[in-house]
Amino acid sequence: SAKAHRNEYSSYAPEMNRKAHDRLRLESDLRRAIDEEQFSLAYQPLVNLRSNQVVGVEALVRWHHPKRGLLPPGEFIPLTEENGLILQLGEWVLGAACRQNKAWQDAGLPPMMMSVNLSMRQFRQHQLAERIKAILEQSGMPPNYLELEITESMTSDVEFAADTLASLKELGVQISIDDFGTGYSSLSSLKRFPIDKLKIDRCFVNDLTQGGSDAAIVATITSMAKNLKLKVTAEGVENDEQIKFLRERDCEEAQGYYYTQPIPANLFENWFRHRSQT
Ligand code: C2E
Ligand code: CA
Ligand code: CA
Ligand code: CA
Repeated sequence: SAKAHRNEYSSYAPEMNRKAHDRLRLESDLRRAIDEEQFSLAYQPLVNLRSNQVVGVEALVRWHHPKRGLLPPGEFIPLTEENGLILQLGEWVLGAACRQNKAWQDAGLPPMMMSVNLSMRQFRQHQLAERIKAILEQSGMPPNYLELEITESMTSDVEFAADTLASLKELGVQISIDDFGTGYSSLSSLKRFPIDKLKIDRCFVNDLTQGGSDAAIVATITSMAKNLKLKVTAEGVENDEQIKFLRERDCEEAQGYYYTQPIPANLFENWFRHRSQT
């Protein structure tokens, strides 16, 4: 009835308004945040399971909101992808990550890969390869230490993805597929793209040793990667049992809270030096 409808509407409207309002607020906060550089990067190591050496780090963005405190990327990256601010934020992330890698090299740390997440919007950005080339040159970081993480969804336009990835590979950077197994990339398209690594999504690693189908999935992805001559990293590793399983399957690298959560650069340096001593 009209009355029921009105009631429904009136109880719904304030909620809608609040959400829309929060969103607008967050959006204007974001614009300022980019100008004022309220962001930082946290780093999480990738460890080679044979040598037990740290072979790289993944850079993960954080927002130090002046009122709301430290915000994880899940709370603002989707919005920046919608409104396009990800292009500016993404350039800042790339620059900061490359400068950090160079700083660590200059400080005498062993060479390490630096992994940076690319969003769909960045992947489609005009002259992406040229932009990344300029960022690499400005930072002084050797291109072969940069690893760009893309997701399967970015490869759905096969022609475009093949061209873009080829232009990125020409820079000398590495390409990995993030969250592998959660999207829809076909095996034939994997073969078509110049990809260096698969990162097995942590949802498969979580219950790896709980007796379900995840063990088979992880084992299958690992052996497929080997056959395709791709590297493979297991994400979200949290315990010894998972490490043991991954070693037995000859999975190359692991990343997760088992080693450490993502941490700021200075804490990562401490963590790394302490780990090297023991
Ligand atoms: P991701 O690329 O899959 O990054 C890994 C996420 O898993 C990180 O969350 C990390 O903190 C979390 N993680 C790592 N190890 C473990 C573990 O052992 N257990 C559990 N439960 N979680 C673990 P974070 O930092 O909140 O980032 C979330 C997502 O935000 C990232 O997922 C990535 O898709 C996106 N993101 C982060 N930084 C950037 C960026 O600079 N640009 C873009 N486009 N996206 C970013
Ligand atoms: Ca990632
Ligand atoms: Ca991931
Ligand atoms: Ca992701």
